[in-house]
Amino acid sequence: MIPIDKKILDYVRKVSVREDGPLAELHAATRLRPRATMMTDPEQTQFLTLLLQAIGAKRVCEIGVFTGYSTLAMAQALPLDGLVVACDVDADAPAVGRPFWKQAGVEKKISLRIGPAVDTMRALLGEFGRGSFDFIYVDADKNNYDAYYELGLELLRPRGLIGFDNVIWGGWVADDSQNDPDTRALRALNKKIHGDARVSASLLTIGDGLNLVMKRA
Ligand code: SAH
Ligand code: CA
Repeated sequence: MIPIDKKILDYVRKVSVREDGPLAELHAATRLRPRATMMTDPEQTQFLTLLLQAIGAKRVCEIGVFTGYSTLAMAQALPLDGLVVACDVDADAPAVGRPFWKQAGVEKKISLRIGPAVDTMRALLGEFGRGSFDFIYVDADKNNYDAYYELGLELLRPRGLIGFDNVIWGGWVADDSQNDPDTRALRALNKKIHGDARVSASLLTIGDGLNLVMKRA
C-alpha cells in the first residue's frame, strides 16, 4: 500500500466505507487466512463498485479472485442480469468466498473460471465475442499484466474500463535499484499505457496504485 497517514485512513474508512452483511463477513474471514493482505482494500473496492454503477456496467471480468471479496462487491454493484467472470488459477481461496456470495444472493451473477487467466480470456473472446465486457479488474500475476492488457482491450467495448491493481508495487516501480521481473513488468506497462493512443488513462495513488484505463471509442 502507498503510505498514508493512519489517522486519515481511519477517518476515510469511518466516514466513507459502507461494508456490511456478507461482504463484511467475508472480509473478516479473509483476514484469518494466510496472505490476507492480497485482498483489495475496502475503500478501493468501493471505488470500483461506484465506477461500475456510474458506467452502467453489466459484464465484468476479474483477473485474480483470491477469496472473492472484490468479486462479491462487484457482483453486488451489477444489475440482476449482470455477470462477473471471475478468473483464478487457484480453486481453494475462491471456495472460501462462495458461501458468502450465496448468502448475499449474488452467486448466480458470478461465473468462476479456474485456470491460467490468459487461457480463460482467450476462451471468453470465443464465448462472448470482442467488445463484450464493460469493465476488467486485473489483480493477479504481474508478469502477465501486458497479456491481460492486450486481451482486455479486445474484450472491452469502446469506452469500457480496465483497472490494473498494484501498479505502484509498494514504491518499487519508482526505485531504480529494484529490477526484479514483477517490478519491471509493472513499470513497462505503466509506460506503455502512458504512450498508448488506443486508451485514455489515469494512474490513481489509491491502495497500492490503480492504473485506470479507458478504451477509446
Ligand atoms: N482481487 C482479489 C485479490 C487477488 S490476489 C481480492 O481483492 O481479494 C491475486 C490472485 O491471482 C491469487 O488468488 C492468485 O491465485 C491469482 N493468480 C496468480 N496467477 C494467476 C494466473 N496466471 N491466472 C489467474 N489467476 C492467477
Ligand atoms: Ca492487489
